[in-house]
Amino acid sequence: MKAANGRVVSMEYTLTDGSGQVLDASNGEPMAYLHGFGNIVPGLEKALDGAEVGHKARVHVSADEAYGPKNPEAEFEVTPDKFPEDMTPQVGMQVAAEGPNGPIVLTVKEVKDGGVVLDANHPLAGMDLTFDVEIIDVRDATEEELAHGHAH
Ligand code: ZN
Repeated sequence: MKAANGRVVSMEYTLTDGSGQVLDASNGEPMAYLHGFGNIVPGLEKALDGAEVGHKARVHVSADEAYGPKNPEAEFEVTPDKFPEDMTPQVGMQVAAEGPNGPIVLTVKEVKDGGVVLDANHPLAGMDLTFDVEIIDVRDATEEELAHGHAH
């Protein structure tokens, strides 16, 4: 069976950045996603369209086809009292927050006197990515999965 819209694709993957540093990997627990529903980055979904079980590929995805360019306007400053008392903001720290369209990750960019600069860009925004993938399984999605728009 080939990866196609409305099918659940399971794959092993290793994600690296431009310098070859591993950012994420499935590590023996294949990730299942619903093909054609934007559950994975557009460049990778496009590359896997029609791929069959056993298909192995190295897929280079530009930032525009991954998490998009970095938006400089997504940086903003808050006062330190916005952080819980038991949390000391440090550069590079990632904090979960509620965004307008659901949960988002904010990255601490700068800590200064009386202010903390946060970056609401996706941590991988602006980065060209490489995915080493192997298709493990392809099956038809259930009615429920199609209704939800994601794999179960
Ligand atoms: Zn669901």
